[in-house]
Amino acid sequence: MLKKLFQSFRLPLRRLPHPRRTPEILSSRQHSLHRNDLSRHAVSVVERLQHAGYEAYVVGGCVRDLLLDLEPKDYDVATSATPEQVRAEFRNARVIGRRFKLVHVHFGREIIEVATFRANHPEEDDDEPNHLASRNESGRILRDNIYGTLEDDAQRRDFTINALYYDPSSERILDHTHGVHDIRNRLIRLIGDPEQRYQEDPVRMLRAVRFAAKLDFEIEKHSAEPIADLADLLNDVPSARLFDEIIKLFLSGKAERTFDLLLEYDLFAPLFPASADALEDNPEYAGTLIRNALTNTDLRIAQGKPVTPAFLFAALLWPALPARVAEVQARGLPPIPAMQEAAHDLIWEQCQRTAIPKRFTMPMREIWDMQERLPRRQGRRADQLLENPRFRAGYDFLLLRESAGEETDGLGEWWTDYQEASDSDRRNMIRGLSSKDEGNGAPRKRRRSNRRKRGPNESAPASAD
Ligand code: ATP
Ligand code: MG
Repeated sequence: MLKKLFQSFRLPLRRLPHPRRTPEILSSRQHSLHRNDLSRHAVSVVERLQHAGYEAYVVGGCVRDLLLDLEPKDYDVATSATPEQVRAEFRNARVIGRRFKLVHVHFGREIIEVATFRANHPEEDDDEPNHLASRNESGRILRDNIYGTLEDDAQRRDFTINALYYDPSSERILDHTHGVHDIRNRLIRLIGDPEQRYQEDPVRMLRAVRFAAKLDFEIEKHSAEPIADLADLLNDVPSARLFDEIIKLFLSGKAERTFDLLLEYDLFAPLFPASADALEDNPEYAGTLIRNALTNTDLRIAQGKPVTPAFLFAALLWPALPARVAEVQARGLPPIPAMQEAAHDLIWEQCQRTAIPKRFTMPMREIWDMQERLPRRQGRRADQLLENPRFRAGYDFLLLRESAGEETDGLGEWWTDYQEASDSDRRNMIRGLSSKDEGNGAPRKRRRSNRRKRGPNESAPASAD
């Protein structure tokens, strides 16, 4: 498909600093996109708007992905119609957003997002060194909030490859920013002055890395250059937005590559400061553990298996835990309460950077807590652990730790065997445990009666937030 696209469309390989004022128009013979490749709902939304006299195009990631022969995640439409005008055209449309309105047109489970052409504020071309002041608390630039022309809409987008407009009626692609050239050369290139565009919205640095990993593209030299110096601007991005971005970075099937790029561009430390410290202190262990967690995640996604942010965050932060536990112990706390306090503090700190919702911090702590419980298998404990809804995640996490070289005295293998063993074999396995497997030498009876008071869904006090 790419071959066909580029055979018919030849541009010399050179730096293209200035966006064009009139778009390059690629006719249906000059590109490989066919209207039948698109979601029919996206096509019908565009055609309906055009019928009503508005300009409308399919735009952004879906055009990019289709040109690359990838399945688009979703479809965006850009139009000259205002949100109210869009809503008036559809029965199944809802206006969303308060400051900047978008329209969601619903077709069963598919949602086509329709946005009115937007402009960057004209002042944006001035020499002001830092545009942070013009952003609101959600991290979006306020001057983005102005309707504009198609041309304006192309210029305010982030990367050239994300600024292609496809008209399914004429089957033409409108390219204002040499986006097709950059797709051809597999380049992520910011539209406009890179430093200024990152300052306007530092999340664009993460998006550059995300698309580079997802598409296996390179970040163009001038777009790559300022990133490491500007990486700390991420500290000014609201933590909830960063959480959303991290989910996209690590749960899109290319987490390992993304991690490498984040490290390469100094973007990992502002996102995960404690993990970055642990990586520096113990690169071999922390690097292996995180990398193995990410390759597992990529594999599970490739196999269509579910993945949870809780496991991912538990893994990303785990290497930072021992140093924290030691700090708390140095203040005089015994090991287990020290571990609990350190876990709590570490998660709290991380949430200041990337607001992890409670529905994920709870299971994170349960996965960690499970690491303390898995060695204690005497009596009925092993069977009770097996029934714990968090057992599988805890067991997988144990295997992950072992894969990074943590010494657990064969605990992972024991649990693997135990799960597969018959009842009588299980009894033998429990009898075969030596007293050191009992755990920390705490009085057995009291602990067990405490455990019985908790329901199977409840975690030990250690993991209660
Ligand atoms: P994908 O959905 O595959 O992650 P996408 O390119 O569709 O990729 P979205 O986040 O869905 O990404 O955004 C849709 C479009 O909106 C982008 O293609 C881009 O044109 C524009 N856009 C998104 N975020 C920004 C941003 N921070 N700055 C400028 N333009 C943006
Ligand atoms: Mg998208």
